[in-house]
Amino acid sequence: MITLALSKGRIYDETLPLLREAGIEVAEDPEKSRKLILPTNRPDVRVVLVRASDVPTYVQHGGADLGVAGLDVLLEHSDAGLYRPLDLKIARCRLSVAARAGFDYAAAVRQGSRIRVATKYTTLARQHFADKGVHVDLIKLYGSMELAPLTGLADAIVDLVSTGSTLRANQLVEVEHVMDISARLVVNQASLKLKREPVRALIEAFERAVS
Ligand code: ATP
Ligand code: MG
Repeated sequence: MITLALSKGRIYDETLPLLREAGIEVAEDPEKSRKLILPTNRPDVRVVLVRASDVPTYVQHGGADLGVAGLDVLLEHSDAGLYRPLDLKIARCRLSVAARAGFDYAAAVRQGSRIRVATKYTTLARQHFADKGVHVDLIKLYGSMELAPLTGLADAIVDLVSTGSTLRANQLVEVEHVMDISARLVVNQASLKLKREPVRALIEAFERAVS
């Protein structure tokens, strides 16, 4: 049995066409059923639904043989023990620094002021500001980052942006691009050895579906 870990929402929705291209149809709609293990048309392939940030953990510890996770999640998580073979080019967005429209980020950086930055991505943010030599106090949040500058909790945020409409709706402006993000196929290293043939075949099917 090959187990593929996906998270509900955009990762699931955007992986489905790639699976279909690879000849794999998920038998049930996760939005309609409450099941966390979804069979497919292939008796040897099943999908498990986990939190987006739990995908690397499942794959790393063998709860799943493969998984699909955003590069943001993979880089925040230490991805030791994960084989990361493929950019699926789905769930594309960018990691950016955004600030309140009235906050002069460039001036604050120029003056070497300490900036308070709220983010879910503390590892990536710490790295980014260290590389630029910007002094920051990081505030860890788990969601609704946009609220932080509006309430005075922080001067800026580091968050994922795709169209920018959420930022605009909250009077925030993107002031720095940190990195481009897309979802990656990750593979458990033991599965790659012990289930070599079927796992290789699935990776290659994903490769063909992407290109
Ligand atoms: P949860 O919403 O359950 O707290 P999450 O925010 O990590 O978890 P999703 O919103 O489904 O889960 O995001 C999953 C992945 O999709 C992210 O890790 C990221 O790689 C990508 N992603 C997030 N936001 C966007 C976006 N606005 N546009 C495109 N891709 C995105
Ligand atoms: Mg989300």
